[in-house]
Amino acid sequence: MSIQILNEETKEIIRNNIENIKREIASLSSKNGEVKLLAATKTVPASVINYATRECGISYIGENKVQELLEKYEELDLTNTELHFIGTLQTNKVKYIIDKVSLIHSVDSEKLAREIDKQARKIGKVMDILVEINIGREENKSGIDPDKVPEFLEFLSSLPNVRVRGLMTIAPNLGEKELLRNYFRETYSIFIDNSQKKYHNIDVEILSMGMTDSYVQAIEEGSNMVRIGSGIFGARDYSKK
Ligand SMILES: *Cc1c(COP(=O)(O)O)cnc(C)c1O
Repeated sequence: MSIQILNEETKEIIRNNIENIKREIASLSSKNGEVKLLAATKTVPASVINYATRECGISYIGENKVQELLEKYEELDLTNTELHFIGTLQTNKVKYIIDKVSLIHSVDSEKLAREIDKQARKIGKVMDILVEINIGREENKSGIDPDKVPEFLEFLSSLPNVRVRGLMTIAPNLGEKELLRNYFRETYSIFIDNSQKKYHNIDVEILSMGMTDSYVQAIEEGSNMVRIGSGIFGARDYSKK
């Protein structure tokens, strides 16, 4: 189960995990600039998250459920840390997080984008977002079809309170990591194609891909933001929730 209690032993585990991941990231040759490490913090209590951000140099954290984000929010120390939303976002919940997060990684429909634009306008904010791509073209999976990216970006450029900062993908869940390279490579090529186009309100510069089991391959294929959960905080055990 992911680390729930902060004591000397768990502090050391977290610190070592982060140091090792940072060292590994630094040793890889990135083709897409500096790689940012985002800690995926689902099931991790705020006290443990705050240790990672205050003491271990984690500058980006990501929650993937609105309810859980709201439960922890007041306790999170965001002084030197950006809070991102990385999970599937229901349109009717946008209003709860619009003022709390600095980047939404998972925008994959016009309906959702319109609601983000509307709620952001209400509070006088321009919300940074990433477009999520369903690179495996899997049924019942979030993300837009890879072929629809240019069209979707064009639509997003019409929304004044939304600013596109890049792309995100969750690769198919395959046992063999090396097979993921093709998906990461294809996402990177979509990233490159679209980063060269000039749309209003759109700067395709962040490519969020790679998790605990795949971040090495993702970085080698062009990721510049990896989202790592269990590699930092230990494996999650949902049966205890
Ligand atoms: C949980 C989660 C991650 C991190 O997964 P790990 O395998 O624990 O590293 C990354 N991205 C999203 C969207 C997640 O929900």
